[in-house]
Amino acid sequence: MTSTISAFTALGLIEPLTRALTAEGYTTPTPIQSQAIPALLTGSDLLGIAQTGTGKTAAFALPMLQKLIENKKPAKPHRPRALVLAPTRELALQIRDGFTAYGRHSGLRHACIHGGVGQNPQVKALAAGCDILVATPGRLLDLMNQRFAFLDAIEFFVLDEADRMLDMGFIHDMRAIIAKLPAQRQNLLFSATMPDAVMSLANGILKNYKRIEITPQATTVERIEQRVMFVSRENKKTLLHDLLKGKDMQRALVFTRTKHVANRIAEQLAKSGIGAEAIHGNKSQNARQRALDGFKQGRLKVLVATDIAARGIDVDGITHVINYELPMDAESYVHRIGRTARAGTTGVAISFCDAEEVGQLRIIERTIRQPITVDISHGYHAPQIADRKDGAPLSHRGQRQGKGGGGGRGRRPHRGGGNFNRNRAA
Ligand code: AMP
Repeated sequence: MTSTISAFTALGLIEPLTRALTAEGYTTPTPIQSQAIPALLTGSDLLGIAQTGTGKTAAFALPMLQKLIENKKPAKPHRPRALVLAPTRELALQIRDGFTAYGRHSGLRHACIHGGVGQNPQVKALAAGCDILVATPGRLLDLMNQRFAFLDAIEFFVLDEADRMLDMGFIHDMRAIIAKLPAQRQNLLFSATMPDAVMSLANGILKNYKRIEITPQATTVERIEQRVMFVSRENKKTLLHDLLKGKDMQRALVFTRTKHVANRIAEQLAKSGIGAEAIHGNKSQNARQRALDGFKQGRLKVLVATDIAARGIDVDGITHVINYELPMDAESYVHRIGRTARAGTTGVAISFCDAEEVGQLRIIERTIRQPITVDISHGYHAPQIADRKDGAPLSHRGQRQGKGGGGGRGRRPHRGGGNFNRNRAA
């Protein structure tokens, strides 16, 4: 489509790249792409506050590819010209896939190195010479120490998901890597959130940078239909099974707080004939990738994940995110639900909330500045949900009212057992 070409050409992109975008079916640049691409083409550094799902990979990959094409040099063995650091293997592989797609007519070579697999193919790729290297910090440092990778020819440096890098304890590895970069280079740093630690990291790396903020922190993606279902702890399992039988439930990502619960749910679902696997930090890299591939390819209808493991999961067509357990903080809630409604589609996020989680629900609603619609379609409801006005604390049967109840916010009423009843007739 000519309109496709002109929309991206208008940003300054050249034909080998716009042709690849047409093949990808991209018609319009996303907001981060419209803002970042022209700035990066002028050589500016960039601070991007954006989550995955906003199109940020193309936002940095396209200008980087273009500048490498325009100043083409033979790729030197062991000395890439561009480095993208990502916290997890999953994200690194997604970024690599982005370079494969966007760079298919560029004539440039890229390689991806990460832990959890043998290093030999990675060493070979480095030895053959690659223009762009996508890497996780640990394995890169390892290969640098073995003198298989040198960073003295780096012209572009991207640090992706900087907040997650810090959360995962990569600060020392990152520092060691950054210390080996040449002084003259273009720097990009992306982060979904901007706590002080990330800001000081950014200040140490970026020079005269452009700042682009796409999703304001903790603002929920508007296209996601959010619902909450009040259900006792022991009824959650049945409710999940019931929901997953729904026809519209084509690809569901279920979140739990612990690895243990994730495993248990995946096993129960698989036993009842619903294709499901768990993905969390205790699983081997291979098992995680296998589960992710199965989910992407549609072999698994359900992926059960913990927050850390789900970071950066970029699977198109997730129709539903189900919070089997609410996260401890509102920011994780926003991250979780952002796994649906990607690339312009809509999505549904359903949160199960038991009596002990009402306080968390309130905090989430306050952070996203909107009440979450109560869904009683499956007959689970708190008897006095109708009392919820203006986000007022929920009162519900089973929790002592009056003096001792204290409104219930964040208090711990007794566990499970009838706090939220199930009314099949409803
Ligand atoms: P990212 O934030 O880079 O992980 O991208 C999220 C998803 O959006 C990926 O599946 C991309 O393929 C897709 N995407 C990125 N840019 C566009 C675009 N301009 N039009 C349509 N889809 C896009």
